[in-house]
Amino acid sequence: MKTIAISACLLGKKCRYDASDNTNAILLEKLQGEILIPFCPEDDAFGTPRPTMDLIFTPMGNRTISNQTGEDLSDPVIDYANGFFNTHTNIDLFIGKDRSPSCGVCSAKLYDTKKTLLSESETGLMAKEAKRREIPCIDAEKYGEVI
Ligand code: SF4
Repeated sequence: MKTIAISACLLGKKCRYDASDNTNAILLEKLQGEILIPFCPEDDAFGTPRPTMDLIFTPMGNRTISNQTGEDLSDPVIDYANGFFNTHTNIDLFIGKDRSPSCGVCSAKLYDTKKTLLSESETGLMAKEAKRREIPCIDAEKYGEVI
């Protein structure tokens, strides 16, 4: 039995920017019997529903920038990630929602400040913290393929 940190929207929590979810029945089937610890940095930091944000390449590194206000929203996401991983120190695996600027592991889109697409294989800010702590990480869509 593994202890798995997982994006809450994959488990059915309606915490996406538009108050929808990303329930993945096949993934849930594969995860039966595991200990699941859900997280959602954006819901915690900004509430739901909320404006979208994108991962932007800046001189300070990759940052999450509001599409509504242009505000840098990175720090609340990073703070949540640190608090989460400091609280849950026994995580065997991190499963992040693919393509999310917060949770995507190898699938987040990265833009420059003029919104030109630079990459589609970046790491969201919470997943980045998981990687930094050397927690094994995988995108949800990949987990379905390899398990
Ligand atoms: S992808 Fe991450 S931040 Fe976005 S709704 Fe799901 S858990 Fe929350």
